[in-house]
This record gives sequence, C-alpha cells and structure tokens, in this order.
Amino acid sequence: MLDLLIIGAGPAGISAAFEAKKEGLDYLVIEKGLIGNTIYNYPVGLTVFSTTNELEFNAGDLDPAREKPTREELLSYYVRFVLENDLTIQTEESVRSVTKEAEHFAVSTDKGEYRAKNVLFAMGAMDHPRRLNVPGEDLSKVHLLFRETYPWVKKRALIIGGGNSAGEAALFLAQEGADTTLAIFRSDWENNDPKQGCIKYWVKKPLENELKENCLKIFFLGRVVEIRENEVEMESESGERVNLPNDVVFVLIGSDADLTMIKGLGVETTQGKSGEVPVYDDETFETNVPGVFVAGHFTNHRHIKGAIDAPKSMIPHLKKRLSKNA
Ligand SMILES: Cc1cc2nc3c(=O)[nH]c(=O)nc-3n(C[C@H](O)[C@H](O)[C@H](O)COP(=O)(O)OP(=O)(O)OC[C@H]3O[C@@H](n4cnc5c(N)ncnc54)[C@H](O)[C@@H]3O)c2cc1C
Repeated sequence: MLDLLIIGAGPAGISAAFEAKKEGLDYLVIEKGLIGNTIYNYPVGLTVFSTTNELEFNAGDLDPAREKPTREELLSYYVRFVLENDLTIQTEESVRSVTKEAEHFAVSTDKGEYRAKNVLFAMGAMDHPRRLNVPGEDLSKVHLLFRETYPWVKKRALIIGGGNSAGEAALFLAQEGADTTLAIFRSDWENNDPKQGCIKYWVKKPLENELKENCLKIFFLGRVVEIRENEVEMESESGERVNLPNDVVFVLIGSDADLTMIKGLGVETTQGKSGEVPVYDDETFETNVPGVFVAGHFTNHRHIKGAIDAPKSMIPHLKKRLSKNA
C-alpha cells in the first residue's frame, strides 16, 4: 500500500516525488509518456519565457548558456534531477482509472494495479488539444502540435490560433523560409495583456518585423470553413470567403485537461481562469474528496513555478496526517 500515488511526471509530479522522498513517504509516480513529457513536446530549440528561478526545484540548480534555458536545457535539467535524486518514476505507463475503496484508492494502469492511501493528479492540461470542428480537420496535413520548422521549408503553412504557441510557430516558420500565414482574430492580435494569454511581446515584435519584410502574412479571421487537400477555405472578419492554397495546417488554439477520472471520484469542479478546474484548498491542494490532491497545470496554476511550489505545502501537510493516522 503506497502512501501516495502521483499521476504525471511534469514539474508538479517531479516536485511532489522529491518532497515525498524528503518526508520519507512511500510514493510512486506513473507517467504515460516520458519524464517532462509536456516540455519534451515543446518546439525543438525553443527558448522558454521563464527565468531560471521560476523553473528550478532548488535555487541555483539550472545553469543555461544564456539568460533563459532552451527546451533542451530545461528537459535535461528535469531528467538529471530525477536521476540524481533517484526518484521513483515509471514512464510509458498510463493511468486508466482511479476508484475509491473503503480504506484506499485502487489505481489501474495499462500495465498493472496499485493501491494507495492518497492520489495526486498532476496530469497537466495538454490531454485534449482543442479542435476547430470543421470538415477536413482529420486530414494528415493538419497538426495540433508544432514541433519544428524544417519539414515545412518552402511549403505553404497556415497557423490558426491567437496565443503564444501560435505566435511562436508562425515566427519560426516565417524565419526558416516557409510561406507562412497566421490566421488570427483581430482581438487576439491587438491584445497586449499578458494575463489574457496573448502573444508575448518578444514574439510579437519579431512577428511584426517578418510582416514588414513580407515573410509573413496575417489573415484576420472570421471563421475557418473547410480544410481541403490543397487549400483552406476561410471567412475573413468582414465575411469575405477566401480559398488559401496550402500544404500544412497547424491548429494551435489551446488544450484542456482530462477531468474524467477525478470527476468520477466525486471531486467538484468550477470554471477557472482558462477552463474547468477541480475545486481544491489553496494550501493543502486537497479536493473535497479526502485523499485526492491536485497540482500544476491541472489547477489554476498555468505556469511551472506554481506547479513546483504546490507540493512544497501539500506534502508536509500530508505527512502530518499520515503520521497522526499511523
Ligand atoms: C510551448 C510551451 C512553452 C511553455 N513555456 C513555459 C515557460 O516558459 N514557463 C512556464 O512557466 N510555463 C511554460 N509553459 C507551460 C508549462 O509547460 C506548464 O505550466 C507545465 O508543464 C505544467 O506542469 P505540470 O506538471 O502541471 O503538467 P505537465 O508538465 O503537463 O505534466 C503532466 C504530465 O502528466 C502526464 N499524464 C497525463 N495523463 C496521464 C495519465 N492518464 N497517466 C499517466 N500520466 C499522465 C503527461 O504525460 C505529462 O507528462 C509552456 C507550455 C508550452 C506548451
């Protein structure tokens, strides 16, 4: 019987494992992909927007070549942290269900069955990429994730979206010689409020330069009508229909957490800043179901710092309760 089963080995799950180990808890992390899977899926070579103090488990640990780390430096730091601290993480194993039994939780994965007194959902919010729900979205040229530019050099690329991921994809593609169009709502393009998930200013500025130099086109979107093998039919903000010749489409309009398992346990949810989130205590991160905890992107914390900090107050609280009940 585990004290704590942690679902997900992103920054929140790794931090929880580290804190659990420090407190002497019997814990296990189960990760469906790789250590730091969400970061692994960032675009190749991306420089992240956070500074090192917002990304590290111990102050001064992360030492990038420039001011901010690249995807590769960050991923390498997280992997080394797991290995050097000998954290118990099983990768490429997916949690399928969590059920409440009389005295414990039964956790079922695609590889085994586990019993735990407590469960932490640190599953992130990347499970359900949002879709346009238009005809042609299932064509193989349509991607819901942007990984790298090189396959698209000299190709006609359309990026649909209004946030930083769409902005970065458009910038990288335009800079590396793809014939790039960003289809975006005017309100998103003109939004400069960082709290509302707009394109960050250090992405927007070079995008504007690419526009000036004619390496990038902007299409102020009304709606996407249909994606076809060689073109995309769209309606502009003024209602004009356009058929844009096209080789590849990136639909980068956000993603949502999978709340099915946690809701099945009876955990209450609410409408958070950018979608539905579980209801939880701000200090203990416990939900209304005793023994069910949440952390990171799965909650209202959208950034890595919040994901790393949550277990620092959660785990000591859990340790105290486990000691009392022992
Ligand atoms: C391109 C990009 C750039 C970003 N840059 C920054 C930045 O500079 N700074 C910043 O603070 N934030 C940044 N973010 C956001 C950041 O990635 C998240 O805040 C962070 O990953 C949240 O950590 P987490 O541990 O909560 O979730 P995640 O890192 O998403 O980890 C959740 C883990 O759970 C696993 N999982 C899910 N379901 C299951 C299951 N059923 N069974 C087992 N495992 C499961 C997933 O595979 C995943 O590894 C960026 C995001 C993107 C997409």
